[in-house]
Amino acid sequence: MLPRAHSPLNVSARQPLLDQFGRPLRSLRVSVTDRCNLRCGYCMPQENYVWLPKEALLSFEEIARLVEVFTSLGVEDVRLTGGEPLLRRDLPHLVRMLASNPAIKDLALTTNGVQMDAQAQPLYDAGLHRVTLSLDTLRPERFASLTRRDIHAQVLAGIEAARRAGFDKLKIDTVVLRGENDDELADLVEFGRGIGAEVRFIEYMDVGGATEWSPGKVFTRAEMLERLTQRYGTITPLVENSSAPAERFRLPDGATFGIIASTTTPFCRTCDRSRLTADGLWYLCLYAQSGIDLLQPLRASASSDELAARIVAGWRARNDRGAELRKSGGERGVLVDIEQLRNDPHLEMHTRGG
Ligand code: SF4
Repeated sequence: MLPRAHSPLNVSARQPLLDQFGRPLRSLRVSVTDRCNLRCGYCMPQENYVWLPKEALLSFEEIARLVEVFTSLGVEDVRLTGGEPLLRRDLPHLVRMLASNPAIKDLALTTNGVQMDAQAQPLYDAGLHRVTLSLDTLRPERFASLTRRDIHAQVLAGIEAARRAGFDKLKIDTVVLRGENDDELADLVEFGRGIGAEVRFIEYMDVGGATEWSPGKVFTRAEMLERLTQRYGTITPLVENSSAPAERFRLPDGATFGIIASTTTPFCRTCDRSRLTADGLWYLCLYAQSGIDLLQPLRASASSDELAARIVAGWRARNDRGAELRKSGGERGVLVDIEQLRNDPHLEMHTRGG
């Protein structure tokens, strides 16, 4: 393992690696598969996709090696994503490998919960710190219509299994779609309260793969706050010094919730996140049109210093602020059309880890 104090190219926690806007390299989202077992309309509206070739997928050893290089350069938060990460066989094995990296302060997983019932305990035992579960509705028939899979009970069982396994800082992520589930905000807050989880409401984003996006379908942060204020009374914003994407709020009765308002209130100026796809492309922004290839040098036996040099050069040149540019760019429609997505699956949000 590369010790942080002697990391390559003299980048360490004391001397953080900064991009063009002074943002540190801190959070890495690692996609372990591009496959998913749901077909949510805001992410995977098609039934079939062009998948990454199996032989290109990073092995667990390759992922752990790359993560080690990233942590030597200042990354301390690592989140496993997909597609749906639990579709990757033996995921607890990867978690165990990453949990042994002492530079990782926060090792988290985002999942749709479908397979969590069986996997929560092995993941907890392997050393996973935190879990975020996606849940857009509490109504089984609505779930079936939103995801095109009639397995709502399985997801609820997965959430309960995560709690039982010992994950104590559970988060529930809900994408709010106008006219589809915007009437469930308070129900979801109450559901979260009942299981000791914090719910975060996410605005519908116009990223790659969202081929059904339109401005009219975005239920905005302002509307969410208005709706919840009508139900609960005055809502207080929590002032936090954090680069986390969610703004947090407190209800009069003390319950808290979050809003991730990437569409109407982008937070690019504090963005320390980058994304590694399951086949080793490193993306510096969710909206980026291309990524930096780490697979090829890795498989050509590049040294850790050589991999680090590529990462350092990429991050130092980073000037991405995709959501801000989209917001300021005037009339807004679908970001990438279906033909382009078929030609380059890396443009899909489900490939680059959402
Ligand atoms: S749009 Fe890009 S720069 Fe802005 S917050 Fe999202 S990932 Fe970060």
